[in-house]
Amino acid sequence: MGRTERCLSARRTSPALRRPDVMRLETPPGMRIFGSPHRYVQGPDAIDALGGLIKAYGATPLIVIDQFLVSVLQDRLAYTMLSAGLTPMLLPFGGEITYAAIDALVARTNGSALSVVVGVGGGKALDAAKSVAVQLALPMVTVPTIASNDSPTSAAIAMYDAHHVMIAVDRMPRSPDLVVVDTRVIANAPTHFLRAGIGDAIAKKFEAHGCRNGTGNTPFGSRPLMTAIAIADACYATLRDHAAAALLAVTAGILTDDVEATIEAVILMSGLGFENGGLSIAHSLTRGLVVARGAKVAMHGNQIAYGTLVQLAAEDRSAPFIADVMAFLQSIDLPIRLAELGMANATDTEIDDIARLTMTAPHLANVAWPVTQADIGRAIHRIEQLATAQTFTPVSGVV
Ligand SMILES: [Zn+2]
Repeated sequence: MGRTERCLSARRTSPALRRPDVMRLETPPGMRIFGSPHRYVQGPDAIDALGGLIKAYGATPLIVIDQFLVSVLQDRLAYTMLSAGLTPMLLPFGGEITYAAIDALVARTNGSALSVVVGVGGGKALDAAKSVAVQLALPMVTVPTIASNDSPTSAAIAMYDAHHVMIAVDRMPRSPDLVVVDTRVIANAPTHFLRAGIGDAIAKKFEAHGCRNGTGNTPFGSRPLMTAIAIADACYATLRDHAAAALLAVTAGILTDDVEATIEAVILMSGLGFENGGLSIAHSLTRGLVVARGAKVAMHGNQIAYGTLVQLAAEDRSAPFIADVMAFLQSIDLPIRLAELGMANATDTEIDDIARLTMTAPHLANVAWPVTQADIGRAIHRIEQLATAQTFTPVSGVV
């Protein structure tokens, strides 16, 4: 959890809108806490079952949907809602997640009596729906249409200003009530989204172990649980076994068991792994990468894949261990050097800048030793050198 993270209900919602069961639980000292969505549903054409899945919440769902998906999904959504006897309100959303944009979305509900908020789309649509759900004190359902990160299972909401600069990571007082993952929809999305999601998920094993080895806490304010360590381990093992075949299948437009396993790792295991296991150096590095020349436009998951390598180097892992992870990343076309993130010929000054900004990340408090800017800079240089020696050839066809 970042220093800037906070509970929306305490800051943004008027007392009249608060509901006791959605208020954030204070973390009692010394308690171990596990948080997760109430239910997770995954499979081909899951969207067509959505009406029945949310019927128990009431008859008037609010659907916040990515505006580019309205023409693609509105007929299917209307059919499943009507079949379940529901009368939904549909709110298309586009643009940035700002407090003003969320207030405008809430205003468009016009005080209607709504039963549940459903977010349909990529990260922005889901975060918009999460914010609206908090403001209206309603249960929340995520329906991701891409698997580029683990936000569908998490309580986190990335907030931005009007200039697209992230200003805070707010948190819902509860995890999403329901996560509905239509694997056919996700498999039909451009392959680079799933590849980025894999990059985001690969880090979780190393970050959870790193957090547990230190004195760090999870976003729930708890020491990492053994359950989360097991999930993060399973996430990494699943990706090592299935990710390459899954990317080949998705590129060919085929939905296979490898794709199902990979999506489960990217959305469910990765989300549970970080919220209950904690974050570490890999995610801290994004503080520098999001403003670095070229690298700043790389997808979050691609930045995290590289950040994972830097964490391994900072932890002083052996060259063969790092080479093995590098070979895996290369095999699925994830970056192993700054140039592959878009930052060719990085100078010492630029690497120092990345290291300096990395030091501003709250997750660094989770590291087992007092990590310094010099440690991070050395780790980046070590990865750049090891990547030069790496000769693995990517699997043909994974592009
Ligand atoms: Zn992430």
